[in-house]
Amino acid sequence: MSKNCVFCKIYTKEIHTNIILSNNLAFAIKDISPKAPHHYLIIPNEHVESVHEISDGESTMYVAMLDLVKQLVYKHQLENSGYRLVINSGPDAGQEVDHLHMHLLAGTRL
Ligand code: 5GP
Ligand code: ZN
Repeated sequence: MSKNCVFCKIYTKEIHTNIILSNNLAFAIKDISPKAPHHYLIIPNEHVESVHEISDGESTMYVAMLDLVKQLVYKHQLENSGYRLVINSGPDAGQEVDHLHMHLLAGTRL
């Protein structure tokens, strides 16, 4: 938990946002400013800033995030049309929220 982090506040329900799907380690929400007809964020419950900060013992976090990706793909029938997964890390990638998250974009030619 990081005090001023918007995704931590969504996880602790301090900020109310519809959680589309969740498992024991991660959850998925709609992006507030969608860049495609389908734009979801897959977010670990724990506050970790970037992929390179996940310790070896925490690799179940990746599995949990990809489990939600898979569920979202089938839920929204994206398996044939396709989708893009993006993780921005650090200033050069334009990361706006310093809590690891994966974007799932789909529903148009990207
Ligand atoms: P980044 O650039 O860090 O990879 O992406 C952060 C994403 O989080 C942006 O696409 C932005 O629209 C989204 N976002 C920021 N604040 C909120 C929020 O309070 N709720 C939701 N649902 N999305 C948010
Ligand atoms: Zn956080």
